[in-house]
Amino acid sequence: MKIEYINLNNKKIKNCFSSVYEQFNALHHHQMIVEQKRVGSSTMQAQPKIALSEIFSSSRNYKITVGIYIKDSNKAHVHDLPEEVLKGWFAHELGHVVDYESYTNFGMISYGIKYLTSKSFKKEVEHKADEYAINHGFGHEIIEAKKYILTSPLFSEDYQNIIRTFYMPVKLVEEKLRSTKS
Ligand SMILES: [Zn+2]
Repeated sequence: MKIEYINLNNKKIKNCFSSVYEQFNALHHHQMIVEQKRVGSSTMQAQPKIALSEIFSSSRNYKITVGIYIKDSNKAHVHDLPEEVLKGWFAHELGHVVDYESYTNFGMISYGIKYLTSKSFKKEVEHKADEYAINHGFGHEIIEAKKYILTSPLFSEDYQNIIRTFYMPVKLVEEKLRSTKS
């Protein structure tokens, strides 16, 4: 497990991340960079780091960017989120990384374009990220994170609507969780 933290000193965030990452065995051979910085467009982001010379291969590192504040807020800190919520969020981001593994580096470029231009593609990959998180044992945390985002006044109504439109509904996560347990 190779995790490099950049500008991240908060113990709770680090512990939550490493305990989630531990369960994603298939990703451990990659260098994982976790950087905390101000992000405007989201609270967390998972991206492949691809060198230009590796554009036609599949060798790459990954970077998870963690906002300092919750999206839409300049007061609510990410480190104040409950642990379960943080873990669910990280499991979702690492779910994206598992999905990225099936793309070549060149394929990742069209992935990026499709994500921005196709609503159905966005919905499909957001559902996939949750699915991978559930398969790695984080169904409960995914549910907690969703419930928190959808009910907390820290998140704007616009953001909550995006979550409702593109992300897996709590009910479906619960169903999947039941079927993986049985
Ligand atoms: Zn996502």
